[in-house]
Amino acid sequence: MAKSVLVESPELTIVHLYQKEMNIYGDTGNTLILRRRAEWRDIKVNVLLVGLGEAIPEETDIILGGGGQDAGQGAIERDLQTKAVALHRLASAGVPMLMICGMYQLFGRSFTTGEGTVIRGIGVLPLETTAGKERYIGNTHYDTPLGEIIGYENHSGLTHLDNEAEAFGSVTLGAGNNGHDGTEGCRIHNVIGTYSHGPVLAKNPNLADELLQLALQRKYGPSFALRPLDDTLEQQAHETAKARPR
Ligand code: GLN
Repeated sequence: MAKSVLVESPELTIVHLYQKEMNIYGDTGNTLILRRRAEWRDIKVNVLLVGLGEAIPEETDIILGGGGQDAGQGAIERDLQTKAVALHRLASAGVPMLMICGMYQLFGRSFTTGEGTVIRGIGVLPLETTAGKERYIGNTHYDTPLGEIIGYENHSGLTHLDNEAEAFGSVTLGAGNNGHDGTEGCRIHNVIGTYSHGPVLAKNPNLADELLQLALQRKYGPSFALRPLDDTLEQQAHETAKARPR
């Protein structure tokens, strides 16, 4: 069995993008959950809120972004372009990222609103989104390589992945990317985009730990192992959310 390495004082820097403009349905809570799950394992966490006009620090271990209305997406459009080179570089370098709904759409190439306005994205994720006539609202369930994820979606955007792109999961309840092809979200390198609000990490500790594990192994080597936690309450949250009607 591979031995896990002991790191003296492990530390993570989490960047939360556009907390003010892009935060609906408690998405900011994802940062809190990662912080707690790391601290419970004696891993020190620095959270940096990076907003309009602020640069993404080079030493970044995890990046999070939340959902937002079309107006919020419009408000960050130009600024996000100024961060595109840094975000592409960090994505290619394997930095784990979790982008929800509005930020998920803008990590793709573009989001076209119901009025036909094109909001440019940064194209880290190989996908495009166009507002549809219907709004998809409700709880979602989908299967991923990490196990089942329970989420909550509210979007009119219809997201289509490029042919070769890998979806994050396959939908068993809800609309997911577009209500037609059964896909939910997208994953490339360690960048995960999804429509799941919630905050999604509260009821899916498997996803929270995936982000932490990826970040810590990237920083301290592949044998860094996360100490298991007692996830009884988190599993209860997962099951309770799962039992709710759509
Ligand atoms: N404006 C986007 C849509 O409705 C994103 C909404 C969101 O982030 N919940 O598709």
